[in-house]
This record gives sequence, C-alpha cells and structure tokens, in this order.
Amino acid sequence: MFQYDISRSVDEIKAGAKTKYYPVELSKVLKIVKDTPGKYAVIGIPSFIMALRLLAEQDKVIKERIKFTVGLICGHQKSSKFSESLAWQVGIKPGNLKHIDFRKKLLDKPANNYGVELTGMINEKEVTIIKPTKELLGQNWGQGFFKPIASDFTDDVMNVTADITLGDAWLPEYTQDSKGNNVVVVRNPRIDDLIKEGIRTGMLNLDKVDNETIFRSQESHYRHTHDELAYRLYKKDKVNKWRPLTIVQSSNDIPFLRKKVQDLREEISTESHISYKKAVELDDLDYFKDEMEKLSKKYVLLYKLILIQNKGMFGSVKAIVKKWEL
Ligand SMILES: Cc1cc2nc3c(=O)[nH]c(=O)nc-3n(C[C@H](O)[C@H](O)[C@H](O)COP(=O)(O)OP(=O)(O)OC[C@H]3O[C@@H](n4cnc5c(N)ncnc54)[C@H](O)[C@@H]3O)c2cc1C
Repeated sequence: MFQYDISRSVDEIKAGAKTKYYPVELSKVLKIVKDTPGKYAVIGIPSFIMALRLLAEQDKVIKERIKFTVGLICGHQKSSKFSESLAWQVGIKPGNLKHIDFRKKLLDKPANNYGVELTGMINEKEVTIIKPTKELLGQNWGQGFFKPIASDFTDDVMNVTADITLGDAWLPEYTQDSKGNNVVVVRNPRIDDLIKEGIRTGMLNLDKVDNETIFRSQESHYRHTHDELAYRLYKKDKVNKWRPLTIVQSSNDIPFLRKKVQDLREEISTESHISYKKAVELDDLDYFKDEMEKLSKKYVLLYKLILIQNKGMFGSVKAIVKKWEL
C-alpha cells in the first residue's frame, strides 16, 4: 500500500507526508539515486538511517549524493497486517482496503488522541470510515500488536545517526493543540542554520527546550528500547539464541513485574501474527479478537498491579479517578 519514492517538489513532499505504520524498503529509490546524479535527502526510521550510513561508508556514489538524512523516532515497526486488521474491524475485509490514514487528526481532541481513516470496499461499494483509535483493538502501542522481532532488538531511540530527528511532542504542555507538535533534535550545523533562519523570519515556530523535555516525550520508549532491552537480550543469551550486538548490555536485573510486562509484550506480538493468520483462514475476525482480548486484559491487569505497587491502594484509586476526569 505504501512505498518509498522520490519527491522533487514541495507539492510532492506534501503529497507524501503523514506517518505510515507500514513496512517499506529502500532498494527501488537507492537504485534511482545511483542512476541519477543529484543531491538527495532521505527520511527514515533509525535502522534505515543507520543502514544508509553504513552503506555510504562502502559506496562513494551514495555518500556523495545523499546530503542529508532526516530521522523519525520509531517505537517499533508494524507488519502490513496491522492496517488490514484495523480495516477488518470496521467491516472492510482483507484484500478490500484501498487507503489508510493512520493518524487522522480529530480537531476537538488532543494531538495524541487521533483517529484512523480507512477507505475500501464493503458490499461492492467504496466507503470511507473514520474511527477513533481508542475504539480499535491493537492500537495500544505498548502491547506491540504485529511487531516484527527485529524491532525489539534495536537500541536506537533518537535516531542517533540522522542529521535531524523528528518525533511526536506528546507532552501535556503540547498535546492540547490537536494539529500536533514535533520534538526536534538537530545535529547538522547547516540544518541548524536553516532552522534558526526559519525562526527569525517567522516561518517556523519552535520552543527551545532542555534534554529532559525531549527525554520525557519518549519516556516509555526509553524504558522499552533502552532499559528493558537488557532483559530481552538476557533471555536470548540464556537459550543460546542469536541476537544483534547492541550498546545495551544483557542483564536480568530489572524489577519482577517489569519482566512480566516484557514477557507479555513478547507473547502479544507473537500471538497477534499467529491468531490473525488463523482468523483469515477461518474468515472469522472474532477468532482474532477473542484470542487477543484475553492477552490485552492480562496486560491491563498487570499495569494495575504495577500502579498498586508504586502508589499503594489509596494512591492508585486517586490516579485512576484523575485519569477518568481527564
Ligand atoms: C513505524 C513508526 C513508529 C513511530 N514511533 C514513534 C514513537 O515511538 N515516538 C515518536 O515520538 N514518534 C514516533 N514515530 C514518528 C512520528 O510518528 C512521526 O512520523 C514524526 O513525528 C513526524 O510526524 P509529522 O506528522 O510531523 O510528519 P509529516 O509531516 O507527516 O512527515 C512525515 C514524513 O515521514 C515520511 N514517513 C512516514 N512514514 C514513514 C516510514 N514508515 N518510513 C519512512 N518515512 C516515512 C513521510 O513520507 C513524510 O515525509 C513513528 C513513526 C513510524 C513510521
């Protein structure tokens, strides 16, 4: 449904915008870069930008032509079945989805409370349906539905080899604007100059924030991708299974309930692929929903236990009431 392409005008860049939670790959566009002299900028998630940096070390043409890399922050990737399963939940059966906007802005809602817009065929009629993500199974990113195993073995939260990194500023002080805000980390002096010029001329609206604010915007991402990667590595090492070398070292030293969260996340990701495949074979979406809802409920319960452990019974009730009020 989506593929990497080359934009040669502002209009083309705008037409290709929006976040796609969908598997893509670079081979077609890299061939164009190799065959067509010019200056290029590539946008990508951390593993893609890192791969490009390594390729540029081997390939002079790539190094010469790719002048800038723009990195997205990426919690994890999704298989194509993620889109398919969302569509099926609104009545568009597998094979009948034509387009998906993964993050349809809901203008009366905070930026992190968005919808999904799905266009496809129902009873031979083309329909477009918008659903708030909260009403769809598989949209809790912590649970990691349809996550490939590789995503659990990267340690790069901030797309550290990119010239500029962009992510979502999902912080209370920024989410109220339903149009959304980005966190931006600039590493390349030429891009830094451009951004400063943009601020000076009023084309860009940016607040200068400290490291702590950027870190806070990705707090749970750091916990999963950095801190608790140690435990996922430990589990692989314990059974002598291959895993990539990472900056994070293998360790079993994380709190008991956090280990349970990690174990359950692995189970949920694995089971989502298996039970979805079975549901398609049976032509029965409820099979997938029933299997996954069992695990999702376990996950929610585990988080309640963690809340009680951290805040005590009284504090937990207070926290839940506060969440309801929000
Ligand atoms: C799989 C995935 C997981 C993410 N996880 C997180 C996260 O945990 N935390 C966080 O803060 N942000 C995350 N992001 C990044 C974030 O969602 C936005 O992409 C980023 O903030 C820019 O959004 P925007 O709406 O401002 O960008 P837009 O103005 O829509 O621009 C986005 C640009 O990225 C390109 N693009 C979109 N999807 C992809 C893709 N899959 N591969 C390559 N290029 C793409 C578009 O073509 C466009 O040029 C994730 C993004 C993806 C794709």
